[in-house]
Amino acid sequence: MKIAVCVKEVPDATAHKRIDPGTKRLDRSGEGALNAFDVNAVEEALRLKAATGEGEVVVVSMGPERALNSLRKALAMGADRAVLISDDAAAGSDLVATSAVLAKALEREQPDLVLFGQQSSDSDGAVLWAAVAERLRRPVISQVAELTLDGGSLTGKRQTEFGYDVIRAPLPAVVAVADSINEPRYPSLKGIMGAKSKPQETLSLADLGIEPSHVGPAGSRTEVLALSDPPPRGDTQKIEDDGTGAEKIVAFLVEKRLI
Ligand SMILES: Cc1cc2nc3c(=O)[nH]c(=O)nc-3n(C[C@H](O)[C@H](O)[C@H](O)COP(=O)(O)OP(=O)(O)OC[C@H]3O[C@@H](n4cnc5c(N)ncnc54)[C@H](O)[C@@H]3O)c2cc1C
Repeated sequence: MKIAVCVKEVPDATAHKRIDPGTKRLDRSGEGALNAFDVNAVEEALRLKAATGEGEVVVVSMGPERALNSLRKALAMGADRAVLISDDAAAGSDLVATSAVLAKALEREQPDLVLFGQQSSDSDGAVLWAAVAERLRRPVISQVAELTLDGGSLTGKRQTEFGYDVIRAPLPAVVAVADSINEPRYPSLKGIMGAKSKPQETLSLADLGIEPSHVGPAGSRTEVLALSDPPPRGDTQKIEDDGTGAEKIVAFLVEKRLI
């Protein structure tokens, strides 16, 4: 059983978010971190590998070279190998272009199962897994809160607004896990020390046979036209709770004839 986990390096949650007015893209120059939702996907891959007693977990990412730091966190958790697709021409890729690159890398790996996190915390698209599955022509199940493998198929318990769907799909397949699926482990000191010596491959677009014109801004079908601050709010009144907050709110609602 070979499991590929797609992971993304995102700006650290504590870093101040800023859009670069020149490129109209998120400024990703500060501290980076492994997308928290993807840690659940790595954890699930490690659990499935342990349950089947054999196999390989490979983490796959597209990003700048420094994204290797985030990939090493996945290696420290227990993943066996990392593949980073890093190429200056890929900067500025939108969802469609990103999905093309990841699909090519996954075709090369031929995994039985591809896992994704539910969404990335910087762009929050929650769609990349669907685009990659479409390119690979593989079944996809999203929001999976429980996952079991059974020979040549998998069963996913999918969270919905009103309960769960239980869906079975043949392997190879693509699954995006919900963050409720597991409680990720912390990397051990031994894991952290060993991560650097695990195989880490950096690929260019040429290595995957991808034309630079098919990625980056040239290969992207979305373009950010303009950015602006949200419109200012109308009249607002801030009520500090000095012990009389509730009375003040009631008085305000009465004044507005709302109660
Ligand atoms: C015009 C434009 C320019 C952009 N330029 C850039 C840019 O320069 N750099 C940049 O990082 N983003 C850029 N983006 C955002 C980029 O399109 C998205 O980050 C990317 O398509 C994934 O979408 P998402 O982050 O919303 O992922 P989601 O759909 O929310 O992610 C779902 C899951 O997909 C996986 N995943 C997401 N991204 C990756 C990845 N790169 N590698 C491996 N797995 C991944 C993770 O498992 C994640 O949990 C740009 C977007 C637009 C519209």
